[in-house]
Amino acid sequence: MLVTTKEMLLDARKNHYGVGAFNVENLEFVMAVLKAAEETKSPVIMQTTPGTIKTAGLDYFYGMVKAAAERTEVPVALHLDHGDGYNRCMQALRCGYTSVMIDGSHELFEDNIALTKLVADAGAAMGVPVEAELGKVGGKEDDGPAVEGENPYTDPDEAVEFVERTGCTSLAIGVGTAHGVYVGTPHIQQDVVKAIASKLDIPLVLHGTSGVPDAQVAEAIKNGICKVNYATELRQAFTKGFMRYMAENPECFDPKKPGREGMAEITDIVKIRMENLGSVGRA
Ligand SMILES: [Zn+2]
Repeated sequence: MLVTTKEMLLDARKNHYGVGAFNVENLEFVMAVLKAAEETKSPVIMQTTPGTIKTAGLDYFYGMVKAAAERTEVPVALHLDHGDGYNRCMQALRCGYTSVMIDGSHELFEDNIALTKLVADAGAAMGVPVEAELGKVGGKEDDGPAVEGENPYTDPDEAVEFVERTGCTSLAIGVGTAHGVYVGTPHIQQDVVKAIASKLDIPLVLHGTSGVPDAQVAEAIKNGICKVNYATELRQAFTKGFMRYMAENPECFDPKKPGREGMAEITDIVKIRMENLGSVGRA
């Protein structure tokens, strides 16, 4: 069934596990992620960035994920990842997305608050949870490599003020992770996670998790992270399976065949991540 992220994240927070949020790029991704969720009996969030939406439209992704959700017993949520403005978030809500993120993290503090509050108010009226971001996750949200260097962490006291004034229902925090492919080994600032979790009573979200060692992610969950985002490594997994098949069968012109190999790679990696998150059996 298609549900909101509210109950699943509150349950994760209460029982100290993480719900995986996986970026889906096409039908094969949706089916492969669903298979992993079913085989591990995990609640699952499927999400799309504005860049992905540009390739097909909100309605296409809603249709695919709704069909997936209707075939299964595990709770499935459809989330707008890195919503880039009020209008995009309203379009996602209208389309039927069951969770949205408004990303005002590139704005000044007061502007981020004003933008987030607008979306959080609308979400509250519609009963849809709204994730916001304070501090910076490195790299680029939609594409491209992670950028080294500047990576300001979220300030715990600012986080408290931000949540109080906006009414957002979950918060993505800057704790040392970045989007894209890491150059070195990333390092999550666990003391920052702990400090924020001790002051806030809403679920915290980790972005840019592809490439972060599982042990660090597990510790971050212990320290208060409830939603864990994976995008890059699903893209890598699909492409790896697809290209391996085509290299071995260059005469193939049926996309279903390499597609199946790509899907199997996605399902494998998603199951490994779900086990590490502790979401297995929580559906
Ligand atoms: Zn992100």
